[in-house]
Amino acid sequence: MMDIQYLDALVVGAGFGGIYQLKKLLDQNLAVKVIDIADDVGGTWYWNRYPGAMSDTESFLYRYSWDLENLKTYLWGRHYMQGPEVLAYLQHVVKRHNLRQYFQFQTELTKAQWNESESLWVVEVSTGQIFKSKYLVTALGLLSRQNLPNIPGIKCFKGAIHHTARWPEGLDLTGKRVGVIGNGSTGVQVIISVAKIAKQLVSFQRTPHYSVPSGHREVRPEYRKDVNERYQGIWEKAKNSMLTFGFEESTKPMSSSSEEERECIFEEAWQMGGSFRFMFGTFCDVSYDEAANKAAADFIRRKIHGIVNNPEKARKLSPTDYYARRPLCDSGYYESFNRDNVDLVDLKETRIIEITPTGVRTRGGKVHELDVIVFATGFDAVDGNYTRLAIRGRDGLNLKDHWSEVGPISYLGISMPSFPNMFMILGPNGPFTNLPPTIETQVEFISDLIETAENSGPLDGNASNSHVNTDASAQIASTRPKYTVTIEATPQAEEDWTDLS
Ligand code: FAD
Ligand code: NAP
Repeated sequence: MMDIQYLDALVVGAGFGGIYQLKKLLDQNLAVKVIDIADDVGGTWYWNRYPGAMSDTESFLYRYSWDLENLKTYLWGRHYMQGPEVLAYLQHVVKRHNLRQYFQFQTELTKAQWNESESLWVVEVSTGQIFKSKYLVTALGLLSRQNLPNIPGIKCFKGAIHHTARWPEGLDLTGKRVGVIGNGSTGVQVIISVAKIAKQLVSFQRTPHYSVPSGHREVRPEYRKDVNERYQGIWEKAKNSMLTFGFEESTKPMSSSSEEERECIFEEAWQMGGSFRFMFGTFCDVSYDEAANKAAADFIRRKIHGIVNNPEKARKLSPTDYYARRPLCDSGYYESFNRDNVDLVDLKETRIIEITPTGVRTRGGKVHELDVIVFATGFDAVDGNYTRLAIRGRDGLNLKDHWSEVGPISYLGISMPSFPNMFMILGPNGPFTNLPPTIETQVEFISDLIETAENSGPLDGNASNSHVNTDASAQIASTRPKYTVTIEATPQAEEDWTDLS
């Protein structure tokens, strides 16, 4: 017999988004379950356990704002959270709010189909179960699906190969010869960390990125006391800012400063630390004015040449394109290249030909002998988590087809026409910010929509049957919920939002 479970809401993903969505919908007295492929909660922080993993949002804002007591009492000892600390924080939130019983792990959503006649989502998962749910909330994250380049010879390598997002527990790289492919936010953190313990580290760099110091340091008690006293106001201000990173965003165009003032402002931001602060707290137009962008980029390039002793390495590490990607910060990235055990291969000059059984062969024939190859090559970001699934809305419309012409679009990164009662957290076309506050705002908006739908009343006049027992150990009720109210973005709203963003 088919294992069908009825729910008010099925939430997919047990990271920042899924955890808060669960809490909100439970508070609304709904029958909710969260599924995740992972073995436990944490999302990004469950998967990304590579050495050096750290947030680049400061600790006081890389968390939830909705539990003031917890905000004031939960310990964070440094200005940024290390990966295991974020994971422990999310586990703590789940425990504190008694949420664990509502999660089902090792369960992947594979197929979701809107059933018009029942007004329900019919969701198939990897365990063979079928969930029928009034609301489907996808909190799949931006980054779950790894990008593992298919380099010739990769299968022949006799050493170990690891992607940073699937880091094996207990892996020790002490004394090893390690190659790191990729030098984005992740690569930079891995390189700093592994350089300190490896016998040899080779960074295979395709494009150099601009990075500024993070300003990572111990939190002084008086700093924490001050944050605690002002916490509510801090959140309010952050949530009303453009990027929600908790610093004063500049309103001053670079052209309004003399060259001397400009240097001073960049230097101050460099000393204080923080990538978004450097890009958006110095001048308001670094991200879009050519001259301002060049001034910031020139400043960072000068710093790189000042830090890196070997001029050839400094040249290779210096970006030449716009300072326009997600800005990076670090705690000693450029300094790592002053170590004798750290080398750099510029793949634009010397590309990878193949992976051999003992290492990486680059153009010209040199084989870099390695014990371990680390792929810090990122993710199939933004829509990859959606396009690999079979999601069908009204009239069997495939999500991939909805996105085939103009790319991944949505209204507010949350809702799409023809996908009724399906709500995405951090779906495509969402804002570019510190993510936890954006996640919170989206979760609260989704919860309000659901509440509105619930309060619109049962169209067939039988509200009492709509609440279904979700106790995993019990036989789940076979009564289907009675509401048929649906919510979805209009095509016009989606188009307008797409034009705006
Ligand atoms: P995630 O945490 O990615 O959770 C999504 C979950 O969905 C995963 O557990 C996944 O297994 C599950 N899932 C996906 N598909 C399925 C499926 N089909 N079926 C079942 N389950 C599925 N952001 C910032 O704003 N500031 C930072 O400082 C910052 N630092 C970062 C540092 C690192 C090292 C990394 C990797 C990311 C960082 N990010 C940062 C981005 C980070 O992803 C977000 O801040 C946040 O954790 C996203 O939470 P989420 O719940 O939306 O998604
Ligand atoms: P990423 O930003 O996509 O960087 C991937 C790196 O791998 C780039 O250097 C890329 O080079 C390189 N690369 C990809 N394919 C390659 C190939 N075939 N050969 C050689 N090099 C290749 O991925 P990420 O660093 O994992 O970061 C992803 C996201 O995670 C970030 O945007 C951020 O949101 C989040 N993150 C945040 C932090 C933090 O501190 N907050 C830390 C880690 C991750 P090119 O540049 O040439 O493409």
